[in-house]
Amino acid sequence: MVIKVGFMQLSSCWGCHQSLLNLHEELLEILPLIEIVYWPAVIDVKEKDLEAMPNDSIDVGFIEGMIRTEQDLNNVKLIRKKSKIIVAWGACAVLGGIPGLANLYDKDELLSRKFKECESIEITKGVPLENVPNIEECVELVKSIVTVDAFIPGCPPSPEQIKSAIIYLIVLLSDKKYPGTNVCKVCEMRGDSCILNQDILCFGPISQAVPNLKWKKDKGACLGEYGYTDVPSEPEVHKLMDLLISKVQDPLTEKQISQFNKFIILFLRLSNLGYLYSPHDPIMRISTKREGLPSKKIKIKNKNFTIFDLNLPNYPEITKNILGMILYRLNEDPGFKVIWKSVCATCPRDTKEKHLTNIKRDFEGIANPDDCLLEQGYLCMGPATQAGCGAICPKAGVPCLGCYGPTANTQDIGAKFISAIGSISTELHPEEILRKMIDPAGLVYRFQLPASILHKKIKEK
Ligand code: SF4
Ligand code: SF4
Ligand code: SF4
Repeated sequence: MVIKVGFMQLSSCWGCHQSLLNLHEELLEILPLIEIVYWPAVIDVKEKDLEAMPNDSIDVGFIEGMIRTEQDLNNVKLIRKKSKIIVAWGACAVLGGIPGLANLYDKDELLSRKFKECESIEITKGVPLENVPNIEECVELVKSIVTVDAFIPGCPPSPEQIKSAIIYLIVLLSDKKYPGTNVCKVCEMRGDSCILNQDILCFGPISQAVPNLKWKKDKGACLGEYGYTDVPSEPEVHKLMDLLISKVQDPLTEKQISQFNKFIILFLRLSNLGYLYSPHDPIMRISTKREGLPSKKIKIKNKNFTIFDLNLPNYPEITKNILGMILYRLNEDPGFKVIWKSVCATCPRDTKEKHLTNIKRDFEGIANPDDCLLEQGYLCMGPATQAGCGAICPKAGVPCLGCYGPTANTQDIGAKFISAIGSISTELHPEEILRKMIDPAGLVYRFQLPASILHKKIKEK
């Protein structure tokens, strides 16, 4: 299957696009699998061509950049209308990026600085008013204006990550449906030997079967590896629901938690790439408590159960209820934890007890190549930043700047980093820390002021 992709550039530096091009000859592995239908910088298409395309005619629309101008605002709505899946791509699109720091100033201050006061201006003609789009009051996030289906952070994301994200999306969109099939129909154990009769959870009744599949005895339980079926198998699906109800009453064992987790990931085709995350991922939603999931009550055999109410169009009701019940139970269980790693967890530098005795600017002294940069006094955002980049900056001797954004269970990266500094053992007085932390907002919100709780500076007039 060839998927149709579009690339939209909002206000940005083109670095994310450049990172994609930096795949060089590896692009040849991807290009035969995609048809580029919109990419004004590379093929001869204009905005009017995008406007003329039918809605939902692009399979995946990638968006680089943040919303700064009126034109960005129109473009982001236009590509959303034309695309089935929208991917916010790079720190600017995901978090507001470095240009988001402009939210520390109002529009008049910015225009005046750029066009009238900047030291490199010799003759000022004032703020240009012709042939330029109007700029918005502040930088807005793509997700604040349109629904985003997946996020790839990084400034820029690495070429390898962009490649694997594209391949994941190709596989996701190529997922074929085989109507009327299910694993029970092709299972050797169907009937008396069905393992549901031995109290073993098997998700074959709600899983579709691919052509020529034979489910042999030695395969054991099906974990939903082929995705959902439109026709769950009768009577097995009811046995599965009954068995599930008996299992979810008791505290879950470690093995059950792991089995449920694997089933959800396989059945819903979740990315598991670490750096690509989606608001449609229910495990992400319950494990980060960022958005949570709506719940509902269902009645089975005169008993009431609260389950999550999942938005899964086309899934049979009983399948949604089974998934909603498992996720609700996982969410309740104290043994269920998804560990969201920080950059520190992937950093090879040695950490002892984090102990801050000094604060240095990046250019001061030469960092010891083996030890934690923060312990050496370099303000490294690793403790507050989501893992996924492979700690490339600390590995190269540079403190992490936080371009992957806050760890998934953190709401505000700045608050998290300040709290990390406060909680490590330090001989420095808070005022000395503040004095030496030159440009605190630029440090802790370098890539994410518009995504932070602060969002923008508001001045009392
Ligand atoms: S995320 Fe970084 S590389 Fe990508 S457009 Fe923004 S500033 Fe440029
Ligand atoms: S150098 Fe940075 S990323 Fe590495 S362990 Fe220290 S604080 Fe964490
Ligand atoms: S170490 Fe930090 S700044 Fe560097 S790429 Fe990773 S997240 Fe971004």
